[in-house]
Parts: sequence; C-alpha cells; structure tokens
Amino acid sequence: MLLQAKGIHKYYSNGKERLHILKDVSLSIAQGEIAAVLGPSGAGKSTLLHILGGLDSPESGEVFFEGQDISSFSDRESADFRNKAVGFVFQFYHLLPEFNLLENVMMPGFIRGSWGVARDSSSDRARELLKEVGLSHRVKHLPSQLSGGEQQRAAIARALINEPKVLLCDEPTGNLDSENSKQIIQTLKRLNREKKMTIVMVTHNLDLADFASKVYHIKDGRLEIR
Ligand code: ADP
Repeated sequence: MLLQAKGIHKYYSNGKERLHILKDVSLSIAQGEIAAVLGPSGAGKSTLLHILGGLDSPESGEVFFEGQDISSFSDRESADFRNKAVGFVFQFYHLLPEFNLLENVMMPGFIRGSWGVARDSSSDRARELLKEVGLSHRVKHLPSQLSGGEQQRAAIARALINEPKVLLCDEPTGNLDSENSKQIIQTLKRLNREKKMTIVMVTHNLDLADFASKVYHIKDGRLEIR
C-alpha cells in the first residue's frame, strides 16, 4: 500500500463544544489507484485529505506512507514529506496572482531549494508540464488572464513539479462549469493512465467518482467503502 490510514479520530472545537469530525476512519490506497471520497459539505472530507497529506494531524490513529508513520513526523520531516511526496490540488487553485504560469509551476521547486542549482532544468520541466496540461500557449500569462479551467490545469502542473508519488485533490472541479470540469477529469485520467499517478480526491461531484477505481463515502465522520 502506498498510503494507509488506520483508526483516525479528529476533533475540532468551535469555541463552545468539541466536535468529533472523523470517527475511526481507515482506508488504503494502492500505487496507481484513483480513489474518490464522496460526502456532503461539512462531512470531514477536506480534514481527511489534509491528514493524508501531512497538513494536519489526527488526535489518534496512524497514517502510513510507504510504510512510514507520517503522523509521528516532526514539523520539518512533515514539510519535507509534503514537498517531495505529495502534490496538492485545491478547489480555488491558489496560484500566486503576481507571477506568470511558468513561475507559478516552478515555485514548489524553488521552495524545495533547487532554484539556484537547477533553474534551467526546472524551467524546462515546468514548460513540459504546462504542455502536458495543454497550456503551452499560456506560459507567460498571469492567472487573472486565464479561465478557471486553465488555472486549475496550471495548478495540476504545479502539483507535479517535484514528481510527487500521490496527488491529493480537494474538490478539483468544485469551482468549474461542466466543460472545464470535463477537461480536468480528462487531465487527471491521463496522468493516471500514462504516468500511473496515484490520485485521491474528495468531492461531492459524482462525475469524478465515475472514473475512480475505489469509492469511499463519508457521512457524519464515518467512512465506508462502496
Ligand atoms: P468537507 O470538506 O466535507 O466540507 P471539512 O473537513 O472542511 O468538511 O469540515 C468538517 C467539519 O469540521 C465542518 O463542520 C467544519 O466546520 C469543521 N472544521 C473544519 N476545520 C475546522 C477548524 N480549523 N476549526 C474548527 N472546525 C473546523
């Protein structure tokens, strides 16, 4: 298994009471798999995705990535893990508005510290990734000059720059019309088919679940496989 969660419990406080958000959640994602987690708004989907990607930690339970318990990582180890092993795609793209697409896609490589050493190869790789998502003609555009679908495809290219082993997508089509959603679905499918990219996505879009090899449902913090 590439990614495994075992007996995850997560609580949040809303100021007055302690809310039990994830209740004994376990799941297993194999290399090359596309898994979808479906559920209504507020069910705990983003929280689960953040825990799987080392952005948040559970109160109890464990998360294993390639057999290593990431929930026991120090802050530094956790940041390193996120940078090298995980690509995140968010509903609202989170591209940096003052940088063009090429710079946005190169940014995680820069954060990883490879900017000075391998700027040219990083730029070549960013161009290659932008080409793969059909944006070769937009490399010097600013995010504000692009459609939502184009911005999300650029965000997917950015998520791939450090060659992650898993792509974690939080409502990747949540802000898009059906035509742009289709393009994002095609892009993710192709990544999985051609590069064996492992993909975990949380969504309430049933179209996304259609192409998943494994579908989980989450309701009131409890996860079930369907
Ligand atoms: P989903 O992604 O399924 O819409 P979330 O994982 O974002 O659900 O949130 C699950 C529940 O946890 C929601 O009720 C939300 O209000 C609550 N929650 C999420 N993050 C926090 C936080 N940082 N502090 C307090 N409550 C939170």
